[in-house]
Amino acid sequence: VERTLAVVKPDAVEKVKEIEDIILRSGFTILQKRTLQLSPAQCSDFYAEHYGKAFFPSLTAFMSSGPIIALALARENAIAYWRSLMGPVNSTKARESHPHCLRARYGDSELRNALHGSDNFTAAEREIKFMFPNSVIE
Ligand code: ATP
Ligand code: MG
Repeated sequence: VERTLAVVKPDAVEKVKEIEDIILRSGFTILQKRTLQLSPAQCSDFYAEHYGKAFFPSLTAFMSSGPIIALALARENAIAYWRSLMGPVNSTKARESHPHCLRARYGDSELRNALHGSDNFTAAEREIKFMFPNSVIE
């Protein structure tokens, strides 16, 4: 089995029950769960790969604007499977092209798109450690 990090972003926290039900019905195990609020500096660190892009300041402001819920998920092919459940990054466009995906259902825009998912193995391991620094999950 593979692990990935899912994050329920501030705009979707009130829908976490529904989202968790979908996660469990999709065959994921929730290894760890944590509600936290990141500072702007911590968000910059988490999204360091996007530093310098035009949307970076709004991304860090949005992600630090309220609580988020971090979920370490396990499943066969977890990284790709979770990204396909989330759907395309832009929630508005996703409503046209992938109306059943989670970002279409729970997000509003390209920035406020409800959910995050790691995009490869190295990122998943880094991001799980970032959100769960005090745990050992092997
Ligand atoms: P995530 O990393 O959140 O799972 P992703 O990998 O699909 O999403 P990235 O390109 O890594 O997308 O962008 C990270 C996040 O930055 C997006 O989820 C979205 O919130 C925001 N974002 C990306 N591109 C834009 C953009 N052009 N305008 C506004 N916000 C954006
Ligand atoms: Mg990404």
